[in-house]
Amino acid sequence: MPSYQARVRFVPTDKEIYNDETGVAMKGADILKQLRINNLWRNDREGKYFGVMFDGQTFKFREGQEIVVPVEIARHLRRMSAVCIGSDKLNGPLLPCLEIAETFDLMSPKIVEVKTTPTTCPICQIDQQTFPALMRHQMEEHSDVFKPVKKESKIRSTITDEVLED
Ligand SMILES: [Zn+2]
Repeated sequence: MPSYQARVRFVPTDKEIYNDETGVAMKGADILKQLRINNLWRNDREGKYFGVMFDGQTFKFREGQEIVVPVEIARHLRRMSAVCIGSDKLNGPLLPCLEIAETFDLMSPKIVEVKTTPTTCPICQIDQQTFPALMRHQMEEHSDVFKPVKKESKIRSTITDEVLED
């Protein structure tokens, strides 16, 4: 099952959004301004929000916040967020006031590159600066990790002894 999620938010105020209908680019700020002109803000205990309905549920968008939803819902919310631009509330061009900031797969782990030096402890990823310090650090801080290695080598040598005796 694909589990693509998307971050949905208001269009950034400084972003230019091109309008296919009018051929004019508009600033995100102008689209958001239109929310007030068209009286689309609502209020609840947490403050003002722009609500978009989906499947009987109201998704509340607030300034400075993003909502993470499955991609299919994100596309729907964006489509439903079209705001009529200008003073003509019936015939003005429609532009969405929401955008999909990023889509990502929840099931695939994000790979983050960790920069390490030769003296970085492979267990806790803390650089010990020198090799003697790294050795000391590993014996003191990770003795539990290093003990089984010793035991294992003892077992191996025992097995080898037995094989040799045969
Ligand atoms: Zn360590």
